[in-house]
Amino acid sequence: MSEAQYHLPKAYQSLITILKSCVHEKRIITQPTLTLAFGTDASFYRLTPKIVLQLINLEEVIFTLKNCYTLNIPVTFRAAGTSLSGQALSDSVLITLSHHWTKYKVIDEGKQIKVQPGLIGADVNKYLAAYQRKIGPDPASINTCKIGGIAANNSSGMCCGTAQNSYNTLAGMTLVLADGTRLDTLDEHSVTNFKISHKKLLGELSVLAQKCKSNTKLADKIRHKYRLKNTTGYSINSLIDYSDPIDILQHLFIGSEGTLGFIADITYNTVIDHQFKATALYLFNNIEQTCLTVSALENFDVAAVELMDNRSLLSVADKPVMPHFIKELALQEDTQSAALLIEIHAQSEPQLLKKIKVTEALLNKFTPIQQVKFSRDTQVYSQLWAIRKELFPAVGAVRESGTTVIIEDVAFPVSKLANAVRDLEALFKKYHYHEAIIFGHALAGNLHFVFTQAFETKKQIQRYSGFMDEVSKLVAIKYQGSLKAEHGTGRNMAPFIELEWGEDGLTLMKQIKRIFDNSGILNPGVIINNDKNCHLNHLKKMPCVDELIDKCIECGFCEPVCASKNLTLTPRQRNVVYREIARLQKTDEDPKRLATLTKAFKYLGIDSCAATGLCADRCPVGINTGDLMSKLRTEHSSIATSIARCTAHNVDKVTAVTKITLAVADQLHKAIGTQNMSLLSDATHRLSLGNIPLWTVHLPRSAGRFKVLSIKSSSKKVVYFPSCVTRSMGTSQDTSDGRPLTEVTQSLLIKAGYEVIFPLQLSMQCCGMPYQSKGFVETARDKLKQLEATLWQASEQGRYPILMDTSPCANTSINSMSNKLKIYEPFLFIAEHILPAIKVTAQKAPIMLHITCSSRKQGLANIMEKVSRACSEKVIIPEDIYCCGFAGDKGFILPQLNASALFPLKEQIPANCSEGYSNSRTCEIGLSRHSGIEYRSILYLLDKLSEKRLND
Ligand SMILES: Cc1cc2nc3c(=O)[nH]c(=O)nc-3n(C[C@H](O)[C@H](O)[C@H](O)COP(=O)(O)OP(=O)(O)OC[C@H]3O[C@@H](n4cnc5c(N)ncnc54)[C@H](O)[C@@H]3O)c2cc1C
Ligand code: SF4
Ligand code: SF4
Repeated sequence: MSEAQYHLPKAYQSLITILKSCVHEKRIITQPTLTLAFGTDASFYRLTPKIVLQLINLEEVIFTLKNCYTLNIPVTFRAAGTSLSGQALSDSVLITLSHHWTKYKVIDEGKQIKVQPGLIGADVNKYLAAYQRKIGPDPASINTCKIGGIAANNSSGMCCGTAQNSYNTLAGMTLVLADGTRLDTLDEHSVTNFKISHKKLLGELSVLAQKCKSNTKLADKIRHKYRLKNTTGYSINSLIDYSDPIDILQHLFIGSEGTLGFIADITYNTVIDHQFKATALYLFNNIEQTCLTVSALENFDVAAVELMDNRSLLSVADKPVMPHFIKELALQEDTQSAALLIEIHAQSEPQLLKKIKVTEALLNKFTPIQQVKFSRDTQVYSQLWAIRKELFPAVGAVRESGTTVIIEDVAFPVSKLANAVRDLEALFKKYHYHEAIIFGHALAGNLHFVFTQAFETKKQIQRYSGFMDEVSKLVAIKYQGSLKAEHGTGRNMAPFIELEWGEDGLTLMKQIKRIFDNSGILNPGVIINNDKNCHLNHLKKMPCVDELIDKCIECGFCEPVCASKNLTLTPRQRNVVYREIARLQKTDEDPKRLATLTKAFKYLGIDSCAATGLCADRCPVGINTGDLMSKLRTEHSSIATSIARCTAHNVDKVTAVTKITLAVADQLHKAIGTQNMSLLSDATHRLSLGNIPLWTVHLPRSAGRFKVLSIKSSSKKVVYFPSCVTRSMGTSQDTSDGRPLTEVTQSLLIKAGYEVIFPLQLSMQCCGMPYQSKGFVETARDKLKQLEATLWQASEQGRYPILMDTSPCANTSINSMSNKLKIYEPFLFIAEHILPAIKVTAQKAPIMLHITCSSRKQGLANIMEKVSRACSEKVIIPEDIYCCGFAGDKGFILPQLNASALFPLKEQIPANCSEGYSNSRTCEIGLSRHSGIEYRSILYLLDKLSEKRLND
C-alpha cells in the first residue's frame, strides 16, 4: 500500500483492496498531485478526491458502484470537467472516463446516433457530418465537453433552444443505478427484467407523476417554466410530459448531474445540420429597442438570436475583427446601443433567400441604427461569430490576477428581457461589478452575465453572497425565470431551488433523489443540499503565480489537444498543480505536501510537457502552458548553460557528430540485428535514466554528405534553408527512396523552374528552437538572430521566398523574424509556388497525413489537406491526434510521451495504406514508429508524382 493510501480512512482502504480484484492498480489513483490535478473542474469550487478511478468499461463501473453502495462511499462521475456550477467535483471517489468510452453507432442514415459518454460533442457531430445531421445540444464548450456531461447537465447553446436539447432529442439510454443495476431502455428484455426487479421504484415514480399532474398549481408552474430553458433542479417536466415510468426515469436522468445514476450510453434523435446559412448583425439604439425586436423574432423561423449589451460591445470594440461601427461606439460618450447577431438556416438556396427577405423586412421595422446585412460568405460568418465568441475571453483578459471569471446563466420570459437587463445592470452598479457584461441566447430568454470575483477575504465572499441573493430574487421571484438555464444547478444554485420551485417543487425533487439514491452516495451536495450556504463553501483560491498562466480560468478547453493528456497531466492540470505549489510556498501551510507536489511536478508537469504550445490555440484567454514549462526548465545549472552555448557556436560539429552517431548505429544494427539492437538500446536507455536516447528501427540513417544539385540560374529564385535536423538525419532504414530530403527538395524546386539559393555558412545555421524548448532562451535568441541576418542577405532583403523544409523551424522563424522575409514551410510553398508550376497526377493509393502543431498554429490544416488531396485520391487525417509528442528530441529521451500521444494512430491506418506524410523529420520518426508505416516529408511524394509526368 502506498503512503497516500495508508492515510485514507478505513472504508476507503477496504474499497481499494476490493477494487484491485477488478480494476488495474495503475488506474486506482491516490497520489496527492494527481488527485488534486484530476479533481479540478471549470467551476470556482475546489474539492479534492481521495481516490480517482479511471474506469474502462461498464463492468468496472457496476463493480465499483456496488461496492461503494455497500461501503456507503460517495461517488462522483466526471466527463470533461467543464462544468461551471461545482457538480463535477468530489472529496470522495471520482470516476473519470478514460478514452475507452468513445464508441458510437450511426443508425438509420444518421437520423439517430448511439454514443458512449466519453465522446466529445464536436466529434459526434463529425461522425454525423456525412449525413448532414448533428446532435441537438450545442453548448459553446462542445469542442471539449463530453456526451456524459452534455446529457447529465442538459446542456444547450446558441441554436438548440429547448426543442433540441438532450431532454427533447433523447431516444433511449443505458443507465446504471446506485445499487449497480443496469437498464437499457431500448432493449425490451432489459426493460422487462427491470420492471420486475425494480417494480417498487417504478411504482413510486408513477405515484409522483400522478401527484404532480393533479397538483395543478405545480403542474402549471412546470409547464410555464420549461417554456424557457431551465436546469434548476431535476427535470421534473418528465413527470407531466410522460406516463410510462421508464420514460419518466430516463428523462429524469437528463440534467440529473450524476446524482441519480450513471449514463453508460445514450441514443439521440439527431437534427438536420443545414448547409444553407446566413448571418447578420444589427445594432439598435438601446436595450429596449433590441429586446422588442427579439420578441418580434420569436414567431419567425430564425436559428439563433444572440444579444450583446452595450458593455459587451465595448469590451471587444478594439478587436481587429470588429465592424467599424462597433469600433466607433467606443468613441461615443453616452452610448446605450445593443446588438443582435442573427442566424438563419434553410434547406435550399431559394428558401434561404426567401427567409432573409422576410426577416430583413421585419428587422428594418425596428429601425436599427447600423447593420451588417445577412451574408452567406464564410469569412463574414466567422467574423460576426468571432465578436460573440470574444466576449467571455475579453473579460477574462482584463481581469485582475488572483480573481476568477464567473459566468452566470439565467433565463427570463422574452417579453420581460429589457427590464431584466436594466435590473441586472442596477445590481452590477450596486455591487461594483463595473466590468460585468451581459449577452446570451435571446430567443430562449437565456442571458449570461460575466464578471470577475476574488474569494480571498471574507469581505469579497460577502460581496458575492449579497449579489447572488439579490440576483436570485430578481430572477426567480420578480421575473419567474430560471436561475440556471443551461449550466446545471451543482452546488452553486442548490440553496436557491426552493426560491425558484417553491416548497412543493423542492419536496418533489427530494423524493426523486430518495427513490434513486436513498443512501445518498451519488454526487452528494449537488442539486439537493441542506446547507443554505453551500454555494459559499469550498471556494477555489486563484493565487497569482506567474503572469504566463495567471489568467487561466481552469475551463479545460485546452485538454483535448494536449500530447501528455493520457500520460501525465493536461495544461489545465499543470496550471492547477503549479498554483497549489506556489500557494503552499507562500503560506508555509504544509511543507510535507509542498515537497510531495514539487517532486512529482518535475516529471508530471515540467519534463513530460512537449512544450509545443498547442494548448494556446484552444485557450479562450490564449495561455500557452508549454511556455511556463519551458521557463521552469530554464533553472539549469551553469554547466548545462555553457554546454548549450558551446553547441550553439558549433552547430556544424553537432550535426557532424549526429551523422556519425546515426551511421555507427546503422552499422551496429546491420551487424547484430534488429532484436539485439532493440534489447541493447532499451537497457542503456533505462540504465541511463532516459539520458541516452532510445534506438528504434525507425531511427533515420545519416543524411550523408550535403549535395548541391544544380547551380543553374533562373528568373525564379528561392532561398532553401534545410534545417539542422534534415542536414543530419536521412531516411529510415527500409525506405523506397533513400535520397536525403535536401536532395528531394532541390529536385522538386528545379523541376518547378527555380534557382535554389542556400544561405551562407549553412552548416552553422539553426533557428534556435531546440534551445528554446529546453529553456536556453538566450542561446536560442542568438541563433535565431544569426539565421535571420543570413536569410535577410540570401533573400536580398525579402525579395525571394524562403523555403524551410521543417515546419517547426519555419513557425519559430515566422513568429520572430522580420515580416519582410517571406518564410514558408513545405505545404504552403507547394500550394502557392510549386503546384502552379508542375503537373501532378494524384495516386490512387491512400496516404495518412499528420498535421504538425507548428502547422496548426500557422492555420495550415486546410492547405495541408488540399495539397495532400492533389497527391492522393484518399487522404486520411487520423482522429484524436494533435501534437505527436515527439517535440524535437523528446521522442528519443522520453519515448513514452510520443507513444502516449500516438496510441490511437495505428488502428486508424487502413490495411491498404503504407505511406504517411508530414513536414517535420523528427515528428515523422515517431509517427513511423507508432504507425508501422513510413512517414516522410510531403516533398517526397510530390517529387515522385511529378517525376512521372516528366517521364511521359
Ligand atoms: C467557457 C465555458 C462555456 C460554456 N458554455 C456552455 C454553454 O454554452 N451551454 C451549456 O449548457 N454549458 C456550457 N458550459 C458548461 C459545460 O461546458 C457544459 O455543461 C458541458 O456539457 C459539461 O460537460 P462535461 O463533459 O464537461 O461534463 P462534467 O463537467 O465532467 O460533468 C457534468 C455533470 O455530469 C455528470 N456526469 C458526467 N458523466 C456522467 C455519466 N456518464 N453519467 C452520469 N452523470 C455524468 C457529472 O457528475 C457532472 O455532474 C460552458 C463551460 C465553460 C467553461
Ligand atoms: S489554460 Fe486556457 S484553456 Fe486551459 S484551462 Fe486555463 S484558461 Fe482554460
Ligand atoms: S505545450 Fe503541449 S504538452 Fe505541454 S501542456 Fe501544452 S499542449 Fe500539453
